[in-house]
Amino acid sequence: MRDPKFVYTFEEGDSSNRMLLGGKGANLCAMTQIGLNVPPGFIITTAACLAYLAHQRLPDGLMDDIREHVADLERKTGRTFGSATRPLLVSVRSGSAMSMPGMMDTILNLGLNDTTLQGLIAETGNARFAWDAYRRFIQLFGKIAMGVPDEDFDAAMAVVKQKHGAVHDVELDAGALEELARAFLEIYRARTGEPLPADPREQLERSVEAVFRSWNGKRAVDYRRQFKITTAMANGTAVNVCTMVFGNMGSDSATGVGFTRNPGTGENVIYGEYLVNAQGEDVVAGIRTPKPIAAMAQEMPTLYRELVELRDKLESHYREVQDFEFTIERGRLYCLQTRNGKMNARAMVTSSVDMFAGGLITKEKALNRINAILLEQLLVPTLDPNHHERSLAQGLPASPGAASGAIVFDADTAAQRGEAGEKVILVREETKPEDIHGFFAAQAILTSRGGKTSHAAVVARGMGKPCVSGCDAIAIDVHGRTARIGDTTLHEGDVITIDGTTGNVYAGRIPTVEAQFFGELATLLGWADEAARLKVMANADTPRDAARARAYGAVGIGLCRTERMFNDPQRLPIVQQMILAETPEERRAALAKLLPIQRADFKGIFQAMAGLPVTVRLLDPPMHEFLPTVSQLEFEIGHLRNLQRAARSVAELPDTLKLLDPELPRDYVESLGKLQKSLAQYKENKRGDAALERREALLRKVHALAEVNPMLGHRGVRLGLTHPEIYEMQIRAVLEAAAECVKEGIAVHPEIMVPQVCEAEELVRVKAMVDQLRAEIEERYGVRVPCRFGTMVEVVRACMTAARLAEVAEFFSFGTNDLTQATFSFSREDAENKFLPKYVESGILADNPFEMLDVTGVGRLIRLAVDEGRAARPQLVVGICGEHGGQPDAIAFCHDAGLDYVSCSAPRVPIARLAAAQASLRGRT
Ligand code: PEP
Ligand code: MG
Repeated sequence: MRDPKFVYTFEEGDSSNRMLLGGKGANLCAMTQIGLNVPPGFIITTAACLAYLAHQRLPDGLMDDIREHVADLERKTGRTFGSATRPLLVSVRSGSAMSMPGMMDTILNLGLNDTTLQGLIAETGNARFAWDAYRRFIQLFGKIAMGVPDEDFDAAMAVVKQKHGAVHDVELDAGALEELARAFLEIYRARTGEPLPADPREQLERSVEAVFRSWNGKRAVDYRRQFKITTAMANGTAVNVCTMVFGNMGSDSATGVGFTRNPGTGENVIYGEYLVNAQGEDVVAGIRTPKPIAAMAQEMPTLYRELVELRDKLESHYREVQDFEFTIERGRLYCLQTRNGKMNARAMVTSSVDMFAGGLITKEKALNRINAILLEQLLVPTLDPNHHERSLAQGLPASPGAASGAIVFDADTAAQRGEAGEKVILVREETKPEDIHGFFAAQAILTSRGGKTSHAAVVARGMGKPCVSGCDAIAIDVHGRTARIGDTTLHEGDVITIDGTTGNVYAGRIPTVEAQFFGELATLLGWADEAARLKVMANADTPRDAARARAYGAVGIGLCRTERMFNDPQRLPIVQQMILAETPEERRAALAKLLPIQRADFKGIFQAMAGLPVTVRLLDPPMHEFLPTVSQLEFEIGHLRNLQRAARSVAELPDTLKLLDPELPRDYVESLGKLQKSLAQYKENKRGDAALERREALLRKVHALAEVNPMLGHRGVRLGLTHPEIYEMQIRAVLEAAAECVKEGIAVHPEIMVPQVCEAEELVRVKAMVDQLRAEIEERYGVRVPCRFGTMVEVVRACMTAARLAEVAEFFSFGTNDLTQATFSFSREDAENKFLPKYVESGILADNPFEMLDVTGVGRLIRLAVDEGRAARPQLVVGICGEHGGQPDAIAFCHDAGLDYVSCSAPRVPIARLAAAQASLRGRT
């Protein structure tokens, strides 16, 4: 045996070694070894691929090995490569350790040439089938192995169809297909300068090299980058060589794709599509619209039963939902491929709960098999049920959720307009793998051809984007940039709405509503809460957000940003009055107006949270954020001054006109009189003056408050200590709201949190305010007001002096947005639009640190602060409330670093609950 061994039969490959055999190959071995009917074949390993890529040639001896395995296949099938009587034909497929759907290339019907073709015709008595197989092979081999463009073949196909008056491929007879195959051979020769190699061994050698090369092809590289597939996860592609079986050998043959459960709903029924007398390509490419598998129960009842048996075997072996391909060749069912089914979030959750109930998996597996981020899909918007729009057309509901956007007809335009911030919907006849960048940029996908397992459907579902496929009422004219549905013509840029849950397509924008929880999700998240150590809180600023956070299962509010309350349009003038105040008394007067409003806000939140902790952060942003910008004020002042000037001119108008003609004013006396009267009134009530003065005062204040670096300036606790009246009012509002609740018998658990702290003394001073106000309020209300006092940790010095802070603070909450900014010295406002994308693209940084927690730097500061804080105060409660609090990897880090809770926006709470469970289950399953 050669060392290393580069080639394995399906019988001998170790199905647990996906890195070596690729996922597809490992599964072919597993299926063969559990007794499923898999056509014989062998796998050339990823190690061979890496050796090829390293030296730009096949490793020594590899072709000898391959030839031996071909000989083995010949023995097993009773067929021979190149035979004119019983030719052996094989498929050559790529397959790496990670599933990369549609990213790599496949060559079918390899082994055909003019001689074997005659053998195939003689053997099957079906010339049409044989020529069809041949023309497919020439195209695939030409395209994949030799780079002949598809368009050349498509053009030849169109010519032949037109000549024979055919609309669909199936209408072409043997003669027409022979003509086509000959034309394809000519295209091949013209493009490559040589005839298509007749020797199947040479065909195989070139194909294997082409598959190996495709690992470094643009599509594969883009896909790996987008989905962050590292070499530790998949390194190189294996090549699967498998005996061909044919689904297009007549009416007792068929091909199809199946899911062991419904991938859209999780329902425990076999799901999929098939086509009688067709090849797999037809289903996947959406060239013909297939039938649902359920129809097979009538059409081919025995085979349907066999298919259900196959499904049961697959699920009980893999204990996971499978996505499989099958072919029926002359009444015999073969399983060609299986892999874990990509399902939407709803289906993942439902199948997890069902498979646990059915004893197929444990609760731990039920939790672990779901990518927590997927749960975001459950919060996909659906169409407002009260809308009355009539749909323009209906296609297949291929991926759930509703979205509106401007129509674009190709992936490049989608990428351009999408990246410019426009919401677009990619509308195509059918999609291909090279459209992937259009998917990333689009809100949703609409195709006029193809089934629910077409490329568009599978890719959109994986991405959680709405998709309607096979909407054949739409006639798309890509060159004219229009789509016609009945009498309606839509142009590129027109807005449409699609509903991937029903398949409906609408003109214009239709409002959407948020998703609701469903039973299985509540069950699963209940299990997650049992398994998790970290608690999940929410960032919520209003009673409405608080109620939603609770509905999603948050066990408290980890961050209530009070400035959002200040920004309410009715309150802003009072806030501005407070900012404009020249003396503490004037400021107190404005704050006195804000106090009852804030108290009512807090009371509403306390009521919504019914005794769960509510962490109120005292005012954080710099004051200028509540004032208009300089340019806005200058614009308004300019207009008001113009108005004053205009008023003066009108007042002087009679005298001015007299200069021209002493008689003239008399003609205008009446209208001028009216105008002058209203101007006199305007001057008298001084509205213009007041408006101008107010803006001028605001402008002076804006100039006075201007800072070069406002985010590092007069904000947070710095503001609170230099203008203590503001924090006093806020603390009073929290404590009085709590006291009122206590009096009314409502349980409360308020926590006051101080932002931007860099020095323990800052905390000492705010704490003194809290203590004093609390004593006064408890006395006045005659109740005890519970309240915990703590600090945000979002300044580097806070981490470095955590022990001192913990002497005053009862809890820490890491503000990783600011802490990331401070650690990197990257402005959180600007970096993401400027250099950060380049940094990530070129690999200087692995990720955007505002999205993925920087464990190495920021994480180190967090660990230090946790350890030192807990050393000073063992009972210190520690959490995180930056955006990272809803990101699964960051949550895993928080678990490891010993935090008590994470806090994130309400819609991310389900993700965080699942991620928290997965973090504590790691290593246990
Ligand atoms: C933070 O900095 O992480 C934080 C939660 O505060 P904000 O985003 O409001 O600055
Ligand atoms: Mg902050």
